[in-house]
Amino acid sequence: MVAAFFRLILFAFIAYIVFLVLRITRGLKKDRRQAGPRTPGPVEGVMVKDEICGTYIPRDEALTEVRDGAVYYFCSEECRRRLKNR
Ligand SMILES: [Zn+2]
Repeated sequence: MVAAFFRLILFAFIAYIVFLVLRITRGLKKDRRQAGPRTPGPVEGVMVKDEICGTYIPRDEALTEVRDGAVYYFCSEECRRRLKNR
């Protein structure tokens, strides 16, 4: 009976360690992403709209342009030029 109790405590302890390790590794990944030059957001797999041609692209691959405090996303350099000419 006592042995079973200690095994339960041990299991809970191991689960707690695993939880801590997972949380730490997730935090590190987030920091590395925020340090990147072309990834302004922390969320992965977000689609953004190219306001010029209406195409949806992954935010990680989109070109960006800040105008009047708003961020615009583009599928290509050509679309970014077209915003500037507008
Ligand atoms: Zn476009």
